[in-house]
Amino acid sequence: RGRVVESTGRWYEVSYQQDEGMENISCRLPGRFRLEDQKLTNPIAVGDFVQFSINEDGTGRIEKIEDRRNYLIRESTHHQEGNQILAANIDRAYVVQAIRQPILKRGFLDRFLVTCEAYQIPARIVLNKMDLATEQDQAFIDDFTELYDSLGYHVLLTSIYDEPSLEKLKDDLRDKTSVFVGPSGVGKTSLLNHIEPSIDRKVGAISHYNEKGIHTTTFAKLLPLHFGGYLVDTPGIREFGLVNIEPWELSLFFPEMLEYRQQCKFNNCTHSHEPGCGVVNAFKEGHIHPDRYDSYLNILDSLEED
Ligand code: GDP
Ligand code: ZN
Repeated sequence: RGRVVESTGRWYEVSYQQDEGMENISCRLPGRFRLEDQKLTNPIAVGDFVQFSINEDGTGRIEKIEDRRNYLIRESTHHQEGNQILAANIDRAYVVQAIRQPILKRGFLDRFLVTCEAYQIPARIVLNKMDLATEQDQAFIDDFTELYDSLGYHVLLTSIYDEPSLEKLKDDLRDKTSVFVGPSGVGKTSLLNHIEPSIDRKVGAISHYNEKGIHTTTFAKLLPLHFGGYLVDTPGIREFGLVNIEPWELSLFFPEMLEYRQQCKFNNCTHSHEPGCGVVNAFKEGHIHPDRYDSYLNILDSLEED
């Protein structure tokens, strides 16, 4: 049994436990696996747990793909193209934002948390560049941390200039398979460089578009962390959207709305204009944060436009 740590589309690098430690083996996938889900372009992704046999020439042959606990998928916008699984069996997604430079984008953050809920990937928030926070920011930071912690999205405050904050982040990552997402410029690359200096990454680089802005095909990797665990290094990870969510489903992915949506008069209530809405009532009574309800309505709008 092993885990797919790299994929070229034809070969899969599978990492597995040997007596002396971890070993890698290059494996092929027999053709029969390709037929199982017609909508997928790839039957297997990094993070998959597989069972394999070893050929005489030392290469491997994947015999079985174990059920996925969760996965990130890039849904195709063209009908001819299939959906691509980016990574499977992810323990945590870290949504990285900066306190400033660039200013924190609530819309992006909440949208991404919804995506994580929909994909059943536990999410956490990294608020980086804390060294740039001013005294006036303190009240906001306290409110922000309290709100998201209470929703179950643990908030970590970091700065690449604050070693103890990086140590806390490392503790959090240990022995887990994690993915970092967030807008460019918030410090994802810098954080990863401090966490895992052996990875050579360019700060400020845009990894998945070439200089002409054309999308280049690159494949995901699981990068082993020296203190245990993996990071998903997936080009284009920001592109996954909310394509498959129906408007009435959206509130399922707002944890604070779950108990109130059951009180709605209509079971397909979108909690925007309907009478007898439990969520709107809860909002009016102060049980749902105005900023979160605002995000909810914005995301709802974008779903209804599609
Ligand atoms: P990415 O696009 O999210 O990968 O962001 P980068 O890692 O490329 O960082 C963007 C810029 O922010 C770089 O100039 C970094 O040096 C800077 N930066 C990253 N982390 C911090 C931080 O904690 N504090 C400050 N002041 N700057 C940071
Ligand atoms: Zn409602």
